[in-house]
Amino acid sequence: MLGLLIFKILILISPLTGIAKEMPESDILKIHNKALTVDTHVDTPMILVNQGLDLGKRNTPPESRVDFIRMQEGGLDAIFFAAFTSQKERTPENIESAYKLAHQMIDSTLVSCEKYKNLVSLATRASDAERLNKEGLKAIYIGLENGFPIGTDLSRIKEFYDRGVRYITLSHSKNNDICDSSSDIKGPEHNGLSEFGKQVIMKMNKLGIMIDVSHISDKAFYDVIQISNAPVIASHSSVRAIANHNRNMTDEMIRTLAKNGGVIQICLLDDYIKNPDQTTTRYKKMQELRNIYNTHFDKMNEEEQSAFRKLWSETSNKYPKQLPTVKDLVDHIDHVKNLVGIDYVGIGSDFDGGGGLADCQDVSQFPNITREMQNRGYSEEDIYKVWGGNFFRVFHKVEELAEN
Ligand SMILES: [Zn+2]
Repeated sequence: MLGLLIFKILILISPLTGIAKEMPESDILKIHNKALTVDTHVDTPMILVNQGLDLGKRNTPPESRVDFIRMQEGGLDAIFFAAFTSQKERTPENIESAYKLAHQMIDSTLVSCEKYKNLVSLATRASDAERLNKEGLKAIYIGLENGFPIGTDLSRIKEFYDRGVRYITLSHSKNNDICDSSSDIKGPEHNGLSEFGKQVIMKMNKLGIMIDVSHISDKAFYDVIQISNAPVIASHSSVRAIANHNRNMTDEMIRTLAKNGGVIQICLLDDYIKNPDQTTTRYKKMQELRNIYNTHFDKMNEEEQSAFRKLWSETSNKYPKQLPTVKDLVDHIDHVKNLVGIDYVGIGSDFDGGGGLADCQDVSQFPNITREMQNRGYSEEDIYKVWGGNFFRVFHKVEELAEN
């Protein structure tokens, strides 16, 4: 009798104590596959250009974390391939070579889309992802990471738009002609957005190119919000209140972003997810290399840069890092949800540009994120919003406000 009573009490209080029954894997996958999923930032075009990666084959991390086969496995419907150029000294020659490289990355992306048109298609409209998904194809969008290739020539923005570029990350790890970077060791140069940068924003608004505030300085972010008539995205940034990195967004920035109707796409890069343990040998060794990168990389010739990249990956492999997990990532999503609501957060992995977690090493492992959100009580509706609903809302709005 007493046993039965205790049993009844346990049943009654179990919802309160959080003893929830885990959802079967097949149900998690059902939710995941029903969502229109997008990863808004991968640096895979760099590997296409440098190593001739074949996107129609199943590759493995760390060589590559993205290909069309693993997109299928991970239920990823749409992706933004970033044509990334690193910031070098702003000489006409360097701008020209960044411009050529960006076009080369776009070329390689287009060639891959054409080669595997049975699997994917180039996408340029917000509505393309859903349409292509219904046709059984993955949507491949293009972003430009770093406005450096634009130099000071506004007409290049339209040129990149015509080639399919639908967002531009205004800067990378150093200041450029558009704005200040969050990471330039020299500090601010324009006190935010430059006069030219303001024209860039207006031009992007007119064309319907999303403004990506990842990488730019806090002041530049607030300037962008002032100038832009459309909501903006952070294609791959995380929460600074959790991981104290200047690449991440403060709570105040996230509140401002939400007010503007924009979205923060949480980045899966370890240091942006969790504060690094500074006592490890790895941290010290990588910090030495990071200092060299910050002070000397842009002065190196191609050969020296490739030797440096090799040293970077050798050192990284020699002192492997305890990576954060999907749980740590979902802490960031929780934080944004609690701060401003579920409508302003999504996912931008930064795969092939440093992104990767212990249990989310490549795009095939994206269902792990859905499982963790489900475990934490996110509704299906919330999960759909995080995986794409929020981002595509912004994309549609940017198109709607454009003048073409
Ligand atoms: Zn980046």
